[in-house]
Amino acid sequence: MLLINTVSEARSALDPIRNGGQPLAFVPTMGALHEGHLALVRRARETHHPVVCSIFVNPAQFNDPEDFRRYPVSLDQDLALLEREGVAFAFHPSTQEIYPDGIRPELDYPLGRLDHILEGKYRPGHFQGVARVMERLLEIVRPGSLFMGQKDYQQCLVIKKLLSWLQISLEFIQCPTLREPDGLALSSRNLLLDPGSRSKAPQLYEALCWTRDRVRRLSFTQIRNRAVQRLQAAGFQVDYLELADRENLEPLPRFLGSPMVILAAGKIGGIRLIDNVIAG
Ligand code: AMP
Repeated sequence: MLLINTVSEARSALDPIRNGGQPLAFVPTMGALHEGHLALVRRARETHHPVVCSIFVNPAQFNDPEDFRRYPVSLDQDLALLEREGVAFAFHPSTQEIYPDGIRPELDYPLGRLDHILEGKYRPGHFQGVARVMERLLEIVRPGSLFMGQKDYQQCLVIKKLLSWLQISLEFIQCPTLREPDGLALSSRNLLLDPGSRSKAPQLYEALCWTRDRVRRLSFTQIRNRAVQRLQAAGFQVDYLELADRENLEPLPRFLGSPMVILAAGKIGGIRLIDNVIAG
């Protein structure tokens, strides 16, 4: 595995491969790697194309400076894991390499309502920052395929929108969410949970499954209220629990028959968790 730290190193390493007709399979991450990330890497390896995995904690997508400050970092361990998984290139750039002109210029990606609902509402500017780093990473790596997790469902839709706006054609592969045995979606932020909060954290997924199992029969408003109450009783500060259109995430008042997605976000012990399940 070759460790790449700069854009010019990336160009010298990756351009000959692409120009020689080999597409690159790209897995972008913010590090503190867990099995969920590694599942994306394994899926990318199935293409039999060289895999590039980036590790970059993107300051532009953190609306909360405290969240950025305490985001877990485990670079040496991450690199060892990527090497073991057969990744060809690990890209770990500095902030200066990614944002030579500074972190916060005016951002105006046309993401539409996706930018303002659900995660967009609770994390203003987050998806603009996500779009910005992805545009930059895609410009550097220029992959043939891109692997991202369903766990960040709204992010997947944002990236698909960005790809179409930038007129970038690549294969977008959304990979299923990997979970702990108790149902908690794997997340780098899980490392920050204290033991008491960790034991309650799986209730977010339980609430989503509980909602999914009733949404065909009962009024969504009623179910949501009960699910939110259960989460609050467990100690969650709930941001949202919504039934939404699978394609554009517009919240829906009731189950309408086609596949939909139920999404939730909340804080437990000061740590914000998100999750989703498909309904129907
Ligand atoms: P992050 O490092 O949190 O930015 O995540 C990098 C990629 O890994 C994103 O595409 C995430 O959606 C994906 N990912 C994170 N957690 C999981 C998980 N539990 N299962 C599958 N993919 C995940």
